[in-house]
Amino acid sequence: MRVGMGHDTHRLAEGRPLLLGGVRIEHARGLVGHSDADVVLHAVTDALLGAAGLGDIGDAFPDTDPAYRGCDSRVFLDATLARLEGAGWRVVNVDVTIFAQEPKLGPVKDRIRRHLAELLRLDAGAVNVKAKTGEGVGHIGRGEAIGCQAVALIEARE
Ligand SMILES: [Zn+2]
Repeated sequence: MRVGMGHDTHRLAEGRPLLLGGVRIEHARGLVGHSDADVVLHAVTDALLGAAGLGDIGDAFPDTDPAYRGCDSRVFLDATLARLEGAGWRVVNVDVTIFAQEPKLGPVKDRIRRHLAELLRLDAGAVNVKAKTGEGVGHIGRGEAIGCQAVALIEARE
């Protein structure tokens, strides 16, 4: 068994869709990035790459590559799952904490959890999504950014 962690932060701006774990959340502002800036999928992808000893999302999918401009972050997750599978690994469970002052994620965290489980091809019980605010301080607390931490456990397939 191997464990990996991932962390990501993206800035919030008007005129962008807000995607968290592949779920579109109704909000006046969304996350800015080279891709669709889905901070949850980026953190989960990094956790999986970390667990398998495969570097980070920036190595695997450089943000200088025009192919990834505006790209759906599910592409990163799918490609990473394929690499893990190719190397003989399967995902055991994933735990995620999203840091957002707004919008309030309590009402949507279960939707994000179920969607993430689908993307990871896991039972919903093997995926956990927690939501925290920034306690009103720092870039997250001021509502300037949303952050995400993820931990993933993988094991060798029989
Ligand atoms: Zn990112």
